[in-house]
Amino acid sequence: MPAFTEAAAFLSRIGRQAHTRGWALGTSGNFSAVLSTEPLRMAITRSGMDKSRLEPEQVLEVDERGAVVQGEGRPSAETAVHLAIVRARGAGAVAHTHSTWSTLLSDVHAAAGGLAIEGYEMLKGLSGVTTHVHREWVPIVENVQDWEDAAPRLEGILARHPGAHGFLIHRHGLYTWGADMEEAARHLEVLEFLLEAVGRKAGREWEQAWPR
Ligand SMILES: [Zn+2]
Repeated sequence: MPAFTEAAAFLSRIGRQAHTRGWALGTSGNFSAVLSTEPLRMAITRSGMDKSRLEPEQVLEVDERGAVVQGEGRPSAETAVHLAIVRARGAGAVAHTHSTWSTLLSDVHAAAGGLAIEGYEMLKGLSGVTTHVHREWVPIVENVQDWEDAAPRLEGILARHPGAHGFLIHRHGLYTWGADMEEAARHLEVLEFLLEAVGRKAGREWEQAWPR
């Protein structure tokens, strides 16, 4: 597991990259990494930080309840989501973006409770996936403002979809994770690519079916 300074440098770098790629504009999105499991300690980006200028000093260390143990300021408002993913999946790192495609697709597929992605070579970038024939189910969860309250429900959804590498929050964005920071960053890239591919394809089919 990484030391705090190493995690802070990595998380601030993937946060800036996510901004550059249009996935975490303004202060949106947050990124975390587990520093130790007993007791649980996690590095996570500070609340309200502009991701275009994210610096290692804007990363905090929190305990298993989300209380700050190192650094200045408040942790992300969605710290409870990161902690729920770490508990449910044993994840070593979590990435969260508010990208255009994750936001749009979470709306379009909300009634189905998720969306399936299958047949794309890029699926092999997800841990444990060895063939493009894989069918990835991306659950969609309701958006709320109190995630501490919603954490047990979220852990229930993760338990019902043990193969999922990420989930969408309705009209909000994408969460993904990995065994370590590198894997979480890779899953973020892969899922953002797949969501954009699925979204663009559906938009094209819609235009062909309903020509102007
Ligand atoms: Zn968010």
